[in-house]
Amino acid sequence: MVFSCDAFDSHEEVVFVSDPACGLRAIIALHSTALGPAIGGCRILPYADDRSALRDVLRLSRGMAYKAAVADVPFGGGKAVVIADPTTQKSPELLHALGRFIDGLGGRYVTGEDVGTTAADMVEIRRSTSHVMGLPKENGGSGDPSPRTALGCFVGIEASADHVWGRRDVRGRRVLVQGLGNVGSNLCRLLADAGASLLVSDIKRDVVEKCVAMFGATPVDPEAVIDTPADVYAPCALGGVINDRTIKRLQVKIVAGGANNQLEGPHHGDALRARGILYAPDYVINGGGMIQLAMERLHRDQEETEQRVRNIGETLAAIYRKAEAQSVATNVAADWLAEEKLRSRPIARSV
Ligand code: NAD
Repeated sequence: MVFSCDAFDSHEEVVFVSDPACGLRAIIALHSTALGPAIGGCRILPYADDRSALRDVLRLSRGMAYKAAVADVPFGGGKAVVIADPTTQKSPELLHALGRFIDGLGGRYVTGEDVGTTAADMVEIRRSTSHVMGLPKENGGSGDPSPRTALGCFVGIEASADHVWGRRDVRGRRVLVQGLGNVGSNLCRLLADAGASLLVSDIKRDVVEKCVAMFGATPVDPEAVIDTPADVYAPCALGGVINDRTIKRLQVKIVAGGANNQLEGPHHGDALRARGILYAPDYVINGGGMIQLAMERLHRDQEETEQRVRNIGETLAAIYRKAEAQSVATNVAADWLAEEKLRSRPIARSV
């Protein structure tokens, strides 16, 4: 079932764990520890069936390996999924049991927050294993990673502007930010401070009003986002926003934002390229939060963390150059970079 699953990509290790006493049923996947211990969050979701959970954990752990590789942090990619409803089935006992299984992996997998888990849950898991990251500041962690994700997006937009217009300064550029949550609102602040002209959209009216008041932003109806002319479109809400239905309607030169899985399929990178729209591969530009967690794990200081997040701009610039030189889409060039790095340093070690 694992080896024949379409999401299987030579994952190093896939572990199925259960503890009937607390209702735990989970799968932990380590895609690669070639560059270091596998890091990646723990997702708790009431998956429809075991196969869906397996596909998700295989896909997500591979994604983490690529994200860590391009960010140049000494970690591999992993993920844990718990088959449960987080609103009714998540309990301290379940989190402790999961922590014990993670501990049994001896540091080859380090867990963190994801859909269905919170920073407070990481504190619970910490009671049975030290292989956990993303704890609140008061518990010795580095706190909310979203501001760093937003910083990575900001420098990524600057690098994209430089590539398209030969000028990284975003002053006067119209940036359309979709989703004004943790990442989007922090990104708006950085863009406004840099003099960008903001267009903002969210399904929550109150957060839109806040951005309009704070940054002089222009509100855009959620249904009108794709058809709104702008210089940069920064998706910071949902995945799958770049698809057959939207690509032909986009009126922007750059797509660069924090949302995960922006392309509905990898071929949509080619479709953007064909329309002359520069795409900042999502797992590269939104790696800032992951870099913060990796640096927390390595006990590195704020200065180094910030510098590494700022390096996202350089990484994107290199990907854009490569894509242009090889006449491929930027998401393809990003995958090549990740795969090259994954092949380059085959040393497993514990941090
Ligand atoms: P969040 O839940 O804080 O914010 C998402 C916002 O999007 C909410 O305000 C929500 O109302 C809004 N939204 C939902 N549907 C919308 C729609 N159709 N149109 C407009 N707005 C809509 O989430 P977040 O932490 O800011 O993360 C945003 C995205 O970035 C997600 O895709 C997430 O996976 C990704 N991401 C986040 C981080 C991080 O550090 N938080 C890191 C990497 C990637």
